[in-house]
Amino acid sequence: MNNIAPKLSAKEYESNFAELKPALTDIAAHAEANRCLYCFDSPCMTACPTHIDISTFIKKIATGNMKGSAKTILSSNWVALTCAKACPVDVLCEGACVYNDKGEKPIQIGRLQRHVMDWYVENGMPQLFTPAPKNGMSVGVIGAGPAGLACAAELSILGFDVTIYEAHKIPGGLDTHGIAPYKMKQQDSLNEVKMIKKLGVKTKTGALIGKTISISKLEKLHDAIFIGTGLPKPTELKIPGENLAGVFNALDFVEDVTKRNWKSVKVGKRVAVIGAGNTAIDAATEARRLGAIEVYMIYRRGREQMSAYDFEYELAKSDGIKFYFHSQPKRIVGKKKVEALECLETKIVDGKLKPVPRSEFKIPVDMVIKAVGQNIDDSFLSSIPDLKIEDGMVVVDGKTYQTTNPKYFAGGDCINGGKEVVNAAYDGKRAAYGIRKWIFGE
Ligand SMILES: Cc1cc2nc3c(=O)[nH]c(=O)nc-3n(C[C@H](O)[C@H](O)[C@H](O)COP(=O)(O)OP(=O)(O)OC[C@H]3O[C@@H](n4cnc5c(N)ncnc54)[C@H](O)[C@@H]3O)c2cc1C
Repeated sequence: MNNIAPKLSAKEYESNFAELKPALTDIAAHAEANRCLYCFDSPCMTACPTHIDISTFIKKIATGNMKGSAKTILSSNWVALTCAKACPVDVLCEGACVYNDKGEKPIQIGRLQRHVMDWYVENGMPQLFTPAPKNGMSVGVIGAGPAGLACAAELSILGFDVTIYEAHKIPGGLDTHGIAPYKMKQQDSLNEVKMIKKLGVKTKTGALIGKTISISKLEKLHDAIFIGTGLPKPTELKIPGENLAGVFNALDFVEDVTKRNWKSVKVGKRVAVIGAGNTAIDAATEARRLGAIEVYMIYRRGREQMSAYDFEYELAKSDGIKFYFHSQPKRIVGKKKVEALECLETKIVDGKLKPVPRSEFKIPVDMVIKAVGQNIDDSFLSSIPDLKIEDGMVVVDGKTYQTTNPKYFAGGDCINGGKEVVNAAYDGKRAAYGIRKWIFGE
């Protein structure tokens, strides 16, 4: 990189990456819990993809029954601490709270859930569920992200012998390696892994299925297999200059940032982030908070078409990110290192997005972060016999999560093309019941 962003003091880094939604005090949590109306139809519960019985866990906070509250939460969602901190609550549970209709502040469900889960971790994660007696069946879970973890936890409770195989040395998937540090810490995700291991789930890390362990070996070891491998392959831009020094994939960049070793992360003075989804926003805000002086987001469509949530967009704007809408990267300019990003303006012609001829303009930058999407690992998945993949997603039965190869089940980003942690957690749990039904017919 030509120009490195100036290093900040330890205090500045900590302040830049301080939690956006800090913990509630006991008094504040009780006051907030007592505001809950315990609605008869709990729209918050319907809006939560894992359908946590929200009013009940909140009622239990109000009565001081923290253990019971944790049990209510965990019986629906095995990665409830991550979800409490990272879920887009504004568009899910809190967005559905009836207080919104009254023009009042919704119940802070995310922070209350975090209050309970923090209590649970601080109190040594006591065993709340008794696993069923072993049923003699064994399941292999590929991927230790939220989908794999949730599936493994539920299977263990149902009496299965479960082993998770994770390519990374440290488990947790994107909960550990992707979510912005101002939302949660890696340790939160690792605590969830610890809790799931306490249920009897075995984990093998550094195990890349398809390479270090073959599919056929896995099939011999297990009666059923769950695929929770997410979207590990970044989409390439396919423009000249993509291999220059200073060009990064968003996933590699954000993973570096989650380690909280701020000074060691390479950041340019002027950074262009290509893309406009939530991952792009995270990469841009993180670059800025690490000290980049100018951060630009480049997007070929307009603000209305951005897939990032409104609150993420507002966060980026308040961090001083500058947006180039209707701009399409044409090439990354530089001899050995990035010097500029050349773009073309775009406009809609006959309903189609087209670059405007001779509209080239250059943005001087010393770092480019590519955040235009992620994909399944096609080469690995296509080695599983009879596994149908459509539009870049593993095809499953909507109820049982069984794939077109009956021994395999799947969930999370690899079946939905990339949603949220909470969707992956739900899929994993439901797939456990799909597996039980297939094996035992119940
Ligand atoms: C940068 C970023 C920020 C995000 N922020 C949020 C957020 O704030 N809130 C939110 O709700 N969602 C967020 N998401 C989305 C969320 O992280 C995902 O929806 C969720 O992690 C998907 O879970 P998963 O288990 O399907 O996949 P992953 O979390 O990706 O886990 C898949 C796991 O499988 C492993 N694996 C892959 N292939 C193999 C193989 N062949 N053998 C063994 N292991 C393998 C991987 O190493 C990985 O650990 C974010 C996503 C990104 C990219």
